[in-house]
This record gives sequence, C-alpha cells and structure tokens, in this order.
Amino acid sequence: MSNIHVDYIILGQGITGTFLSYYLQKAGKKIIVIDDAEIFTASRIASGVINPVTGRRVVETWMINDIMPFAVNAYLQLGNEINESVIQQCNVLSFHASVQMKQAFEDRLPDDHKYLRTPLNEESLHQYFNFYLGVGETNPCYLADIQILLLSWKKKLLNDNLLLEEKFDWADCIITENNITYKNIVAEKIICCEGSAGVHNPYFTLLPYAKNKGEVIIAEIPDLPRTNIYKQGLTIVPWKENLFWIGSPYEWNYSDTNPTAAFKIKTQLQLQQWLKLPYKILDHWAAERPANVERRPFVGLHPLMPSVGILNGMGTKGCSLAPFFANELTEYLINNAPINPLADVRRFSKVLSRSIS
Ligand SMILES: Cc1cc2nc3c(=O)[nH]c(=O)nc-3n(C[C@H](O)[C@H](O)[C@H](O)COP(=O)(O)OP(=O)(O)OC[C@H]3O[C@@H](n4cnc5c(N)ncnc54)[C@H](O)[C@@H]3O)c2cc1C
Repeated sequence: MSNIHVDYIILGQGITGTFLSYYLQKAGKKIIVIDDAEIFTASRIASGVINPVTGRRVVETWMINDIMPFAVNAYLQLGNEINESVIQQCNVLSFHASVQMKQAFEDRLPDDHKYLRTPLNEESLHQYFNFYLGVGETNPCYLADIQILLLSWKKKLLNDNLLLEEKFDWADCIITENNITYKNIVAEKIICCEGSAGVHNPYFTLLPYAKNKGEVIIAEIPDLPRTNIYKQGLTIVPWKENLFWIGSPYEWNYSDTNPTAAFKIKTQLQLQQWLKLPYKILDHWAAERPANVERRPFVGLHPLMPSVGILNGMGTKGCSLAPFFANELTEYLINNAPINPLADVRRFSKVLSRSIS
C-alpha cells in the first residue's frame, strides 16, 4: 500500500475537529480526519445553546463579547458550505427558582443592558408553566444544530475521501519531532480533538481534566412554543420537529457513562412541578463533557513534541468556544499568530514535559 501524505491528521470529529478541519482546509491545507463514530459523545448529544451569561450570579461568560459573534458567523459560514441552516437566535427564559436567584438576576439588570432584560410576555407563560417568582430573559442567545452540522460535515468529508471511520491507536504510530506516520498516512502533525477520550492520550494525559457526565431526555411536548429555551434548574430546548431536549446536570461521581433511572425519575418529578403541558419521553442519552479544573481550553502544540497538537478541554461550552479556538489554532499553525495565553496548552509546559520524559 503506498503512503498518503497530508499536512494534518485531525483526531476526532466532534465540534472541535469539525471546525478545525473546516478552517485548515479553507487555509489550503491537506487534511485527513479520523473518528470512530461513537454515538454518545458530548457533541452528538449537546443541546447547542450559546448563552452569554452563566452561573447563579448571572455574569458574562469568559470572552463572550468576542466568542459569541465569532461563533454565530462561523456557524453561518460552515452552514453555507454544507447547505444547511445550523444557527438561529433563541433566547433563554429563566424562571427564578428562589428569591435569591430572582434577586441575583435583578441585581444584574441595571449593569447588563446588553444581555439581560425582563420578558415582555411574562403573563402569557402561565399557560405553560407553574412559576411564582417571575422570569428573566437572556437576549440574544443562539441555538446551533450540532447534530445536522456534524452529520453533513461527515458526509462531505467521506465524499472527499478525507475521513477514516476507525478507532485510532497510538500503538500504530511512529512519531518524530518533524512528522507522524499512522499506518500508511504520513502527516506533518496530528491535532488531537478527542473530547473526553483525551484523558488517555499519552502526550496530554497529565493535563488537569475534570470530566463530568451529562444526561438528556428527548420528549415530545406538542403544545409548547418553540420560540425560546426555558430554564429552571432543568433546561428545555427546542430540538428537531416537535421534540424538545431536556437536561442536563453536571455529575462528577459516576461509575459508567450510561443513562440512569435516577436522572429520569428526578426530571419527571421536576417537570411535574414546573410544566403544565402533557409530554411524552422518547429517548434518554448520556455522555461526558471534556471539562477541566481551569475551565479554559487546551489549544496548541506539545511543548516538546511539536508534531502533536491539541484542541480540547471545551468543557460545558464547546458549542461557543470551538469555532473561535479552532480558528485561533489554525492561524497559529499557518501564520504563527499568537494563541490566547489562557488557552495556550504551553501554560502546562512543565507538567507536559513529564509525559514524554
Ligand atoms: C449533555 C450535554 C449537553 C451539552 N450542552 C452544551 C450546550 O448547550 N452548549 C455548549 O456550548 N456545550 C454543551 N455541551 C458541551 C459540549 O458538548 C462539549 O464541550 C463539546 O461537544 C466537546 O466537543 P469535542 O469535539 O471536544 O469532543 P467530542 O464531542 O467528545 O468529540 C470527540 C470525537 O473524537 C472521537 N474520538 C475520540 N478518541 C478517538 C480515537 N481514539 N479514535 C477515533 N475517534 C476518537 C469521538 O468518538 C468523538 O467523535 C454539552 C455537553 C453535554 C454532555
């Protein structure tokens, strides 16, 4: 079998590998993507919400004023490439669950005219939900259709002979500082976009991952308007056709990544209290988020082995962070443009030098 020569192997076609393969190709680079087509990965079950505020204190998320407009534009561009509409504005209505949460939202209102407001239609929401402490609106928020995006991009890669659907094994690699050989593929670099499986990557296993598990229920709620994302502990997000995505807790102690009866029962109890409409559960999924203790991505090349790079650690916000940092990594690889020091994986140079010593 003759060798295939490419500039980059991209390991993983979640949301990070998808955007990185898009930008590197756009920059004229030869790529090949390897993905094992796991069904329940973070990207494949993510709701795709891009929310500019976070936490109980309703503060702006990290770099959101740069990251959100970049992401919206990136989804529009990649959507055009695959002839799909994959991004829409969909604001979050937060039903205050306690007096303290209502207070926290109201305290932030005077300072944050950009993203926070009181919804105009609060009264009309009583026909759908039980609530007693009012509602706050985050506007604008966006909803990306990650499933359509990944599937259509995968079809395009397969069509162009640029995707290997197999499990990548480091034992099949020869890696030097200048290149990597995987079976019959020779590449200048491999960029690892493995999501939570990245904890097993021999070059980056010492990074401070703190994976957590999320579970999701897919339900039919025929009478609920699909105009908003609804939040009260649980989040209800418009999904395909007449379905809604309902999730998702952060679980740090778990023995496996399967869906649990406990989550399903807890969700049903919460819905019983909150939602006034009939619903029917159709599916239940779970996956791990590639989170880390710093809540900042891992972007760049291994400090001692520059033929191996990483784009990972997107945690709970991969749908907003991935386009921005995939572009930043591409600019670094092509034009030597700087990577944000808070995201640059070289901040772990000391610890990473132990992984190959
Ligand atoms: C329930 C849930 C809801 C979420 N909702 C949101 C949300 O609304 N908004 C948001 O911004 N973020 C959300 N997230 C987080 C977001 O999904 C992640 O940050 C993001 O998907 C991570 O993408 P990734 O490409 O890094 O990893 P992944 O999606 O895990 O992709 C990695 C890919 O690499 C492949 N792979 C790994 N190892 C190998 C190997 N050895 N060989 C071949 N292939 C391999 C995997 O099969 C996979 O396809 C959610 C996550 C969960 C679990």
